[in-house]
Amino acid sequence: MLQLNGKEVSTARRAQLKTKVEEFHRRTNHTPGLAVVLVGDDPASQIYVGGKIKGCTEVGINSFEHRLSADTTPVQLKCLIEKLNDEVAVDGILVQLPLPKGLAPDKVLHWINPDKDVDGLTPSSMGHLWIGKPRATPCTPAGVMAILDHYSISVEGLKAVVIGRSNIVGKPMAHFLTQANATVTVCHSKTKDLSAYTRDADIVVVAAGRPQMFGKEDFKKGSIIIDVGIHRQPLKCGKDKLCGDVRFEELEGWVKAATPVPGGVGPMTISMLLENTLHLAELNHI
Ligand code: NAD
Repeated sequence: MLQLNGKEVSTARRAQLKTKVEEFHRRTNHTPGLAVVLVGDDPASQIYVGGKIKGCTEVGINSFEHRLSADTTPVQLKCLIEKLNDEVAVDGILVQLPLPKGLAPDKVLHWINPDKDVDGLTPSSMGHLWIGKPRATPCTPAGVMAILDHYSISVEGLKAVVIGRSNIVGKPMAHFLTQANATVTVCHSKTKDLSAYTRDADIVVVAAGRPQMFGKEDFKKGSIIIDVGIHRQPLKCGKDKLCGDVRFEELEGWVKAATPVPGGVGPMTISMLLENTLHLAELNHI
């Protein structure tokens, strides 16, 4: 079984991105900038935001961090986003989700200028994606496609199953696979006889958010398995470990290729965010 190593892919892409950012700066005299807005003190979000800021430094992108308290009002947040919309130094704006109660993500995303929507999640960005003219692309599914590309895995003509239909993962994932000429079936929590679909698929992207739900018996021999799920599982010693939706250890000797958790899709998400920032800077500084 080929282990699809997202960490390796991410490192290689960041090195390339650093060079592209330098070239862009030489050409335009502008350094791409990413504004990250974190509201409240969710511990997981603090870690994610830290990783994003560190990633910016690594590839030469300017980062602007805005930490707001959990009792921030919608008006205060809107004011900040509108200010960032107008700032020339800022090419991408990311509002870290989840937001505290009282701040509706749908509303908040609408306040971001679509030209600066670095996560690709506003209706305008989704529309661009759907007509095949993406601006920023949703980072996690774009990361999956980057892994496949790195390992020269073509999905053309393959039967693909995506488990999950969220706006952030499942729906754009199905779109990317369709664009890459796979024949795609989207399964979800109401799908009857789910394993009949997964056992028939050449490639399965699992994004159900159900720890360790899928194993060898759910997949066809020789298929490709991409595990998007990330969960913290408590250990007896009091610590915890990361796991995915798939029981990865069962796949050896059965499937052709698979992503582990950790070290598979996870490391790609931030890399794609950084690539999106440069892409938006390029669109805004032609
Ligand atoms: P979500 O909860 O919004 O969506 C889950 C989807 O799975 C839903 O569409 C639901 O219909 C489907 N589903 C749930 N239970 C199912 C079942 N038993 N059988 C079939 N389908 C089922 O979650 P999401 O935001 O799409 O994230 C999915 C997983 O991916 C989570 O574990 C999340 O932590 C992880 N994730 C990872 C990254 C990353 O960077 N690697 C990024 C985003 C999300």
